[in-house]
Parts: sequence; C-alpha cells; structure tokens
Amino acid sequence: MEKHNRHTFIYWDRVIIALCIFVLIIIFIVMGIKAIIGAFTDDKKNDAVQAANTDTAIIGEGQKLLVCVDAGHGGEGDCGALSNDESRFESDDDLNMAHAVEKHLKELGADVLMTRTEDKYVDLYQRPEMANDADADIFVSLHRNSAETGQGVEVWVNYDAPDDDTLLAKNILKGLDKVGISQNRGVQYGYQGYDPAAKVNYVVNEKSNMPSCLVELGFITDDEDNILFDKNLDAYAKSIAESVVKSAEELNIIKISNKAVQN
Ligand SMILES: [Zn+2]
Repeated sequence: MEKHNRHTFIYWDRVIIALCIFVLIIIFIVMGIKAIIGAFTDDKKNDAVQAANTDTAIIGEGQKLLVCVDAGHGGEGDCGALSNDESRFESDDDLNMAHAVEKHLKELGADVLMTRTEDKYVDLYQRPEMANDADADIFVSLHRNSAETGQGVEVWVNYDAPDDDTLLAKNILKGLDKVGISQNRGVQYGYQGYDPAAKVNYVVNEKSNMPSCLVELGFITDDEDNILFDKNLDAYAKSIAESVVKSAEELNIIKISNKAVQN
C-alpha cells in the first residue's frame, strides 16, 4: 500500500510539471502567431497608406484580382509588325508595355499572369488557355498596329462581345486618350480587315473566358505614334492598369478602397 501511494504521488508531480511545460509552449506559440499576424497587417496598412497617397485606386483589403497581361507576338518566328525602316519590332514594344502594365497593376494590388516575360514564341491558343486555367478575372492583350497610312489607338473586342468587354475596352481607351494619343479610333468589333458580319475574332478575345480586349497602342509604322509610345510608355501603362482596376470594380469583380481614379 505504502509503495503504491508513493508511486501515485510521484506520478502527479510529473503531470504538474508536464502541464506547466505544455502551457508555456502554448503561450509561446500564441505570442509567435500574434507577432507574425501583427507584422503582416502593419505592412499591409503601410502599403495601403502609401498607395492612397499616390491618389490612385487600390484594391480593397481581402479583394483578389488576377489580370492576364498578354504581350503580343514574340520569338524569332513572330516579331509582329515592323517600323518603316524595319529597325523596330512590335514584339519588343508589346513586351516593354506588358512589363510596365504588370508593374502598375501590382502597385494597385492586383495579381498578374504574364503570357510571356521574355522574347520567346508563345502559341496564340496557349495564351487564352493560360488565363482560363488560372481563372484570371480580366485579359488584356497588348499590340501595335501597322499600315501604309494611319495613326492612333484602337481597342478590339469580339464581334458579339458582351457589355463587360466593351466596358473594359472603353475605359482603357478613355484613359489612354487622356494621357495623349494621336487619334482615338474607338472600340472595334471582330477582327481587323473583316466586317463584324463575317464573325471573325482575335483568338485571344474569342478563346478567353473572362472580359477581354486587345489594345493596338498606336501604329509602329507612324513616326508620331512611335514618339508618343516611347514618351508615354509608363503613363500609358499606368493608365491601362488603372482602367483595368476601375473596370474590375464596375464589373463587381472587386471593391476598391480609394475612388480617386476617374478616367
Ligand atoms: Zn500584333
């Protein structure tokens, strides 16, 4: 009996020590998690304040916007249109613009999916597929126009585009017009050179499952458009990013926390 009692006493002693250690561990874990969450929310708050100070709309807390930015053409086999002296490739302009749009979208709090980030060939059908697979919210394809004569900016949507696509295209065009373009050629439906009645679309517009448009950012064959493109590259990109975020809010994809964008 005596032996048994002593055994029981030692047993409880150990349990109390174990419990104390257990409680201490739990306290440390909770303190650790609190510190991590605190640091994270402080960072987010600081980011939000910074973005708000720049007077642009930022994507509200807890909101998610995934934008697929498609730099047209790419790689040796597909350099797109050429300038008149053949020194300038459309694929380079498209990529430079895509990187700038990506930067500004991220500053506004959006996530960005790039169909290409370097000078490489990407199949035309693969581009909308990437956006569909990632469940992107908005698709924007960036191109430059070419012709013997002609200048200005136009934005293309499907010939039977839903209102959502037209809204996106109109917002982008309006924003670019405000920055300064040689000519506003309006929202275009279908595929260049075809009557909308022919029911032909750009592949990226036709195969993407989300609101989409294809921006022709001036003519690479027009000197004035090239000067404007180089001078305004960052301003055009910022404007496109802001128009995308503004459109996403108008399409009820996200809420924005600052409505200073009014283009
Ligand atoms: Zn193109």
